[in-house]
Amino acid sequence: MANFSGAIKLTDLNDFIAPSQACTVALNGSKLETNIQDGEVLLHKRAEVPGFSQTLPSGPNGSVKVTLHDCLACSGCVTSAETVLLEHQSTEELSERLADPSISVIVSVSPQSLASLSVELGKTIEATFKKLSGFLRSLGVLYVLDTVDSRDLSLLETASEFVARYRAQHGQNGSGKPPAKRHGQLLQLASACPGWVCYAEKTHGDYILPYISTAKSPQAVIGSIVKGPLCKRLGIQPGKVYHCTIMPCYDKKLEASREDFTTPGEQVPETDCVLTTEEVLQLASQKGIDLALLPEDHLDNVLHSAEEKRLYGWPGGSGGYLQFVMRVAAQELFGHSLPPGSLPMRTLRNADFQETVLEIDGREVLRFAQAYGFRNIQTVMRQVKQNTCRYHYVEIMACPSGCLNGGGQIKPHGDQAVGELLHALDKQYHDVPMRTPSSNPMVDVLYRDWVGGFPYSEAAQSLLHTQYHNRGQTSKPAQAIARDW
Ligand code: SF4
Repeated sequence: MANFSGAIKLTDLNDFIAPSQACTVALNGSKLETNIQDGEVLLHKRAEVPGFSQTLPSGPNGSVKVTLHDCLACSGCVTSAETVLLEHQSTEELSERLADPSISVIVSVSPQSLASLSVELGKTIEATFKKLSGFLRSLGVLYVLDTVDSRDLSLLETASEFVARYRAQHGQNGSGKPPAKRHGQLLQLASACPGWVCYAEKTHGDYILPYISTAKSPQAVIGSIVKGPLCKRLGIQPGKVYHCTIMPCYDKKLEASREDFTTPGEQVPETDCVLTTEEVLQLASQKGIDLALLPEDHLDNVLHSAEEKRLYGWPGGSGGYLQFVMRVAAQELFGHSLPPGSLPMRTLRNADFQETVLEIDGREVLRFAQAYGFRNIQTVMRQVKQNTCRYHYVEIMACPSGCLNGGGQIKPHGDQAVGELLHALDKQYHDVPMRTPSSNPMVDVLYRDWVGGFPYSEAAQSLLHTQYHNRGQTSKPAQAIARDW
């Protein structure tokens, strides 16, 4: 197995795993050719250019061998085309907007990023958020929000969509869209991970896209809230608000650039900039600030009532989609209440591929899986194509170990093992009060005052759902690919 530590950053995964497609990727100035053999990627060194100093370990015929598990494990991968987009989402860009008095900057922070920062600072997640809020406001940020409410909306929409599709499939007063199904059985795939969605759009196209939930991700939902009801309440034009999110991966920058995530009519991006967790730490360092030493400031309560703002969690480091959809489906479809706490999961091929089954009166009624990392995604794709997939719902995430292990998270220090860091992240992430999305009072307010409808209603579908595009394999120039996003 090749050891690529340090100097090589592998690029867009989709290019690597395109069946039978030889492609060229740029790695630190050197060009490599790729092709696929039995689920492995062979990288062939093609041309040396000045500045490339990595010595590539050689396999037979001078090839360099990387297993899919190795190269697809990095969600920080970007193509040269995608770099065009990423340059516009940086700490420098944020600083420029902060210096512009005509622009109001609002920042939304993901719970995975807070977990990573809190482990780094050695503080609780709540204390970390308070320090970070104070730091960002000291730079001129107007409000610092979190993505708990938007995650809850995303979970509710995903679960309601599943129930509607299941009912439509089984002729139970279904008002949902025609269900995506194979073998006469419903299949819904998670939609919150842009790494996975990008791969599905470019590599599997129309065959797989109908299976993907149309519910927007938490980032997309908070973008809609900020540029919609929040701008309205603040009396600021959406174009005068610069919305920046802090996320665990670079793929979220690409998601923010999708043409689907712009304000209705005005076509203003709902999220203008995404910074990774690590970039936020760099921003503090650029400003000469040690976040750990800052006092704890207040949390902004702009979306909430007078009650003190608190962080609430839900089981599952990648948002907890499987956990929530299974609970809602069990209750709504079968009148079956699942006990509180995390659902029992059975490990399949590896720790990143697990399943849970709901049996009622000895009969299996639902089978859900979570498949993290491209090795396991490939397995699910193969099952769907061969009509052997037995799952009703699959929580698919591009990163092995899910979002807590995103490519933009703060890396282990020294000889700290990745597993040890992930354990600490998981502990911090879940070290807040747990609350079901449906008992979040802000969710009721948003459905009533903004959406004007209930979960998966027509109004909710127009505001909280999206669509996908078959982008096919492409050899378009960088700017053209950037426009596709
Ligand atoms: S699994 Fe999570 S962190 Fe990784 S690419 Fe997907 S959304 Fe980003």
